[in-house]
Amino acid sequence: MKLYELSAARLISLLEAGEIKVSEIQESVQKRIDEVENRVHAYATLDRNKETDPSESAGGESVLDLKGIPVAVKDNICTKGVPTTCSSRILEGFNPPYDAAVISRLKKANAFLLGKTNMDEFAFGSSCETSCYGPTHNPWDLSRIPGGSSGGSAAAVASGEAILALGSDTGGSIRQPAAMCGVVGLKPTYGRVSRYGLIAFASSLDQIGTITKTVEDSALLMNVIAGGDEKDSTCSNEDIPDFTKSLEGGIKDLIIGVPDEYFVEGLDKEVEEAVNEAIKLLSGLGARVERVSLPHTKYAVSTYYLIAPAEASSNLARFDGVQYGLRREAEDITDMYKITRASGFGEEVIRRIILGTYSLSSGYYEDYYLKAQKVRAVIAGEFKEAFKKVDCLITPTSPTTAFKIGEKIEDPLKMYLSDVFTIPANLAGLPAMSVPCGFCGNSLPIGMQILAKPFGEETIFKTAYAYQENSQWHKRKPSL
Ligand code: GLN
Repeated sequence: MKLYELSAARLISLLEAGEIKVSEIQESVQKRIDEVENRVHAYATLDRNKETDPSESAGGESVLDLKGIPVAVKDNICTKGVPTTCSSRILEGFNPPYDAAVISRLKKANAFLLGKTNMDEFAFGSSCETSCYGPTHNPWDLSRIPGGSSGGSAAAVASGEAILALGSDTGGSIRQPAAMCGVVGLKPTYGRVSRYGLIAFASSLDQIGTITKTVEDSALLMNVIAGGDEKDSTCSNEDIPDFTKSLEGGIKDLIIGVPDEYFVEGLDKEVEEAVNEAIKLLSGLGARVERVSLPHTKYAVSTYYLIAPAEASSNLARFDGVQYGLRREAEDITDMYKITRASGFGEEVIRRIILGTYSLSSGYYEDYYLKAQKVRAVIAGEFKEAFKKVDCLITPTSPTTAFKIGEKIEDPLKMYLSDVFTIPANLAGLPAMSVPCGFCGNSLPIGMQILAKPFGEETIFKTAYAYQENSQWHKRKPSL
């Protein structure tokens, strides 16, 4: 039995039955990393210097006990004493003095933390190519991107280099790589998971979430990381259900909305067919399907690319060579800032800082930033209306499957359009999940996206689980 291929839920039940030991799981995953990491390059930092078996003594039936299951963490989530760089030279040598809230929770739940996963620099990207460590490769086809920006986390889970992973999602960075790597990615509701210790990209959009092999693993991991936190004032105190209980809810009488604006020109034919087949399957299980319209969807990408860079330009002002990471000495302090920032940030980061500073500057603020905020409110309002009529929405996650490394990196606009279907959920603060729903040309994974109203994760879980239990896609593994 290849333990690294199994889901966390399955491994936990084998552990509970006494059929395997936790050290065997950890060894299996570590061996797998030794075998494939030089080809996949999912990690920015591997943390090998620590005790194994944190859970031999944990025991208990708690829903919050991960019993030593190996977890990978995106490199923008602070881990005490373990490098956290956002895959940027500017954070070279930064070892946070504290753990992010999600890391404290994982440790309390006896997770075994494997290391930090590669990402687009500061999470700006859709392909994992802007990392200062070089690109991550898609385990299904090593000449292709894994998606981004949480590409390392998605590739690690898909290749068996981790059992569970955390990512962050500002405009699709969990869901798009999950779709392209054939795994399950959940961006929870804005405010569902504490962002204390997440290095901020765009604070009104960022959310930490899960990347897993199955829907039930996502529920397990959400049980551990979700919930109020006094250190993050944007984190909601809404009650946290046991998400694993929502899986079996069934979807009889569920009303699924299918928005016209997500089935448009530019959508790959095979992706469209796979998502339509998945919707048919759900309808066969008793769900009712209705067409809906979200007419302002076409403005989502431009709205996002005004708001996200604006917030990023402000958040990134703190990287100036004084408090963290890289510092280039100079004659005076202004030159020190300039030289440090110019040599520490990559091209895409500099582009976003320039775009963001421009749209916030006096004379342009009203025309760009403020207008974008107004359009954002209209987009959120349309979703609110739609959720009065339907329980969830189903769309493709990404218009295409994984593209070739190098294919879009020289053309930022093409790259930005990869997020056309994932960005709206961030603008409206909605939870959304990508689940595997097919393969293009029989070799590259396709994802379908399920969205629900704020704090409607349980609806997503039961829909996704019903689909997964009646399909086979999640069982395929890449041959590496
Ligand atoms: N690809 C989008 C961007 O580059 C989203 C990134 C993200 O969600 N972190 O901004």
